[in-house]
Amino acid sequence: MGELNPFLMAQRQFDEVADQLGLDEGVRAILRFPLREFHFRIPVRMDDGSVRVFDGFRVQHNDARGPAKGGIRWAANETLDTVRALATWMTWKCAVADIPLGGGKGGVVVDPSTLSDGEKERLCRGWVQQMWKNIGPRMDVPAPDVGTNPQMMAWMMDEYSKLKGEYVPGVITGKPLGAGGSLGRTEATGFGVIYTVREAMKHLGIDPKGTKAAIQGFGNVAQYAAIGFIEILGGTVVCVSCWDRHDRKAYTYTKDDGIDPKFLQSITDQYGTIDKAKAQAAGYRIEDANAWLSKEVDVLIPAAIEGVITGETVEAISPKVKIIAEGANGPTTPEADQVLKKRGTFVIPDFLCNAGGVTCSYFEQVQNDMNFYWHRDEVLKRLDEKLTAAFHAVLDTAVAKKVYMRNAAYMVAIGRVVEAMKLRGWV
Ligand code: GLU
Repeated sequence: MGELNPFLMAQRQFDEVADQLGLDEGVRAILRFPLREFHFRIPVRMDDGSVRVFDGFRVQHNDARGPAKGGIRWAANETLDTVRALATWMTWKCAVADIPLGGGKGGVVVDPSTLSDGEKERLCRGWVQQMWKNIGPRMDVPAPDVGTNPQMMAWMMDEYSKLKGEYVPGVITGKPLGAGGSLGRTEATGFGVIYTVREAMKHLGIDPKGTKAAIQGFGNVAQYAAIGFIEILGGTVVCVSCWDRHDRKAYTYTKDDGIDPKFLQSITDQYGTIDKAKAQAAGYRIEDANAWLSKEVDVLIPAAIEGVITGETVEAISPKVKIIAEGANGPTTPEADQVLKKRGTFVIPDFLCNAGGVTCSYFEQVQNDMNFYWHRDEVLKRLDEKLTAAFHAVLDTAVAKKVYMRNAAYMVAIGRVVEAMKLRGWV
C-alpha cells in the first residue's frame, strides 16, 4: 500500500533529490513535514433538519516564499495524508512557477454529489468559521480543487468577509467572475498543461500538428487541456476517461478521429459525469476505465487524480508515447517513475505541468489587491510567459545535470525554497 500513500510518495520524491543535492539535516527536517496542520469538525444542519458532522482539514506545508496557497478538495476518501502530500506539492509548484507563495491544501471528507446546494453552502461557511483565524491574504489563500467550484469560493469569501467585517476578496481565489474572479482562471490549468506540452515538443523536435493525445479525467483541468490540445496545438484527442457517479466506476470515451471536448462538456453534469447514451449516439465508443492508458498516442495526459500510473499500470503504456504531461497532482508513483526513466519517456512533472491554475490564482490576487482587472488575453499571455519560463528553468537543469525532469523540477523548487528560508534566517 506504501506505493499509493501520496504523502509517503511525496516524501520519497523529496528524499531522492535531497540526497542528490546534499541538503543538510535541519533543512530536510523542515521540508519533509508540513509546518502546520489543522484537523477540525464541521457541524452542518442538513435539509431534513438533522445535524451531520464533517471532517475538515487544512495543511500549511511551507510559507517561506509567501503565504500558503492551495485548493480545497471535497472527496469521500480524503485523508490527512492526501492533504499533506498535496500541500507539499503546492510548495514546490509555487516555487517552480516562481510566484511569491508557499504551499497549503485543504480538504473535507464528503462526496459533494450527495449534498443539496444549501447544504454545500452551509458546509463552505462552516469550513471558514473553523479556519478564518488561520487563513487570509497574507497568511494562507485557499482555492478550488477536485470536488469544489467557483460558487463555493464565493460563499467562502463572503463568510470570511463577514467575519472580518470588511470585503476581503484576496482571501481565496478561483472565485466567479462576478465576485472578484479573474478572466482566464477557468481555462488556466488546462491551457497551462498545453503550454508546457508545446515547449516539450519544441525541445523534442516534434511538430504538434497531427499529434495525438489520450486524456484521463474530464474535470476542469482535463476539459481545457483537451480544448487546448486541439485549438492551441492543432492536435487530435482520441479519448477522455472519467468517473460515472451513477455506475460508481470510470469509463474511457473514445473517438479515433478525435473527440469534441465542447460537445462532451455539453453532456457532462456538474459532478463530471458524461451522459453515456448521448455520447454513444454521437459515435463515441465506451471502453474500460484504463483504456486511455494503452492508446497509441504521442502524449498521455493524466488529469484526474493521484496514483494512476503505478508499477503495474505503467507496463500498459505504449512505447509510442513520447510525452507524459501530468495535469493531475501525483498521478505517477515512484515505482512507475523508475520504468519511465529507463524507457526515456519525457515526463512533464505535475507541479510544473499543472502550475497554470495557481499562477492564475496569483494573478487573481494581484488584481484583487489593485482593484483593477485585466483582459483575458493579458491574463493568458502572462500565464504563458510564466509557464514557459518555468519549463525552461527545469529543462535547463535536467539537461545540465543529466537528470530526470521530475528531479530537475524538485532541484529548482527546493533551491528556491531553501534560499528563502536561509535569507529569512530559518536555517
Ligand atoms: N488546486 C489547484 C492546484 O492544485 C490550484 C490551487 C490554487 O489556485 O491555489 O494547483
